[in-house]
Amino acid sequence: MNLSPAVRSLKPSATIAAAAKAKALKAQGVTVFDFTLGEPDFNTPEHVQEAARAAMKAGHTHYTASGGIPELKKAICAAYERDYGLKYEPAQVLVSNGAKHSIHNVLTSLCGPGDEVIIPAPYWVSYEALVELAGATPVIVPTTEASGFRLSGEDFERAITPRTKLLLLNSPCNPTGATYSAAALEALARVAQKKNVYVCSDEIYEKLLYTDEPFRSFATLLGGIADRTIIISGVSKAYAMTGWRIGWTLAPKELTSAMDSLQSQETSNPCSISQYAAVAALNGPQDCVETMRQEFARRRAYTLGRIRGLPGISLPDPGGAFYAFFNVSPYFGKPLGKGTVVSNSTDFCSALLEEAHVALVTGDAFGAPGYVRLSFATGMDVLQAGCDGLAAFLHV
Ligand code: PMP
Ligand code: GLU
Repeated sequence: MNLSPAVRSLKPSATIAAAAKAKALKAQGVTVFDFTLGEPDFNTPEHVQEAARAAMKAGHTHYTASGGIPELKKAICAAYERDYGLKYEPAQVLVSNGAKHSIHNVLTSLCGPGDEVIIPAPYWVSYEALVELAGATPVIVPTTEASGFRLSGEDFERAITPRTKLLLLNSPCNPTGATYSAAALEALARVAQKKNVYVCSDEIYEKLLYTDEPFRSFATLLGGIADRTIIISGVSKAYAMTGWRIGWTLAPKELTSAMDSLQSQETSNPCSISQYAAVAALNGPQDCVETMRQEFARRRAYTLGRIRGLPGISLPDPGGAFYAFFNVSPYFGKPLGKGTVVSNSTDFCSALLEEAHVALVTGDAFGAPGYVRLSFATGMDVLQAGCDGLAAFLHV
């Protein structure tokens, strides 16, 4: 079929594809230790589920305003004021079908042919594809393991050209877990201000931090640079609500209004029932977030111990999110598992899944050849058995 140029070269999301591969093996009756998808394994908190049931009973089952119900926009503004002292108005908020959709809205509304978008690597799988879908050019700027996979102000400035429109930043980062200190963020903010570049700050893992420094939203920097910052976040990770599909942007009014027009033509409103559930998540008790974070912290400590116990493998501390991202290239060219020899991460992951039934995501998909990603958002028993399987596969 003669597909459109925009989708002809579009690859499916590598994380979703890896999860589907693991699921297909499970469907054959195989016990798979699945560390592919980055999604909390916890159930959505009971009071949030109850709010969804109440919304249905109250008849909130119709179209809503395309950009979200006023109650949710108000709840989002209140949460940012409560948590970070940021003052946003509902006219700066757009509620969408998950943070992924929010990123698409930003890129499509702000960027087009001739525009460059700077993406520090390793990066989340969908960034590059979504920039290309908008017709813009991704400019990938590598970061090093030695720097903790953080983009420096100097590297950011060096990558800027007259065509640069936007920096796509993600802290805490998927896949590395890297977090930026306030000082490191300020260095980036100063460059953005000097060079007149917008920053799209994907803060979806804001509540899942393991560092002593509290989370700093990009919009709070330099006394407030909200006029050149677009914040992306949502309820997926903090409240274990991946399936409900609620994400949002906080952006200047002009951009918010443009994105609302786009959304009104493309998808209309995000699910009405999910929106009421998200209100309950944001306005309700927040101790459920801390309970889940503590459990992630326990799994993180265990996972880091096991990975660091593998000869030749090191990794910087992931300061947030729920991923361990490590370099397996020391094992390339050596017999693994049943004698298989691999020379790249993609083949490594395929052999690991086929022979040890351990499912990871290849670093190739995150712009980091030689690396693999393990999501520790899964039960301790699966983590233990999966790490045993990985060690046996590596013959250590
Ligand atoms: N940004 C990052 C960095 C992510 O890891 C994800 C994946 N969940 C998203 C955005 C999209 O989140 P959502 O499920 O809300 O679409
Ligand atoms: N963001 C999660 C991940 O990286 C969910 C899958 C996806 O949307 O890519 O695994």
